[in-house]
Amino acid sequence: MESTVKDRGGYQLRVTGNAIEGRKINTKTNEVVDVIISESNITINVGVISEFVSDVRSGKQDATEKGEQIIKENTKLTAFDMAIAVLGHEIDHSQSKNQTDKANGKNPETIPTQKAEQILHDIANKKKQ
Ligand SMILES: [Zn+2]
Repeated sequence: MESTVKDRGGYQLRVTGNAIEGRKINTKTNEVVDVIISESNITINVGVISEFVSDVRSGKQDATEKGEQIIKENTKLTAFDMAIAVLGHEIDHSQSKNQTDKANGKNPETIPTQKAEQILHDIANKKKQ
């Protein structure tokens, strides 16, 4: 199991565990070209997400990150919407591409975070129509 748990201001919104079966390595460059994942388990903590969204709205949690700002600015977004964004983020962590980037020292949070922000944006825009 390889955990990609990352606490955000004390809120554990989710956990993703990947069972890594193996890695394919380019022996000339030593670069990992593929991480083989045999199984992934994603846990979405809906109760914590609900508390998080409520705290971002009330100002108890600072809205310093883009996702937090989207939640704060778009008051129609719900905890359920945030849970969908978190799920999108975690699905990316369960993909070989994400784990291969991580194995090669690239920040594994960049693309999943962009995906979650995009999901929040899309839902917020839909609710404005
Ligand atoms: Zn992540």
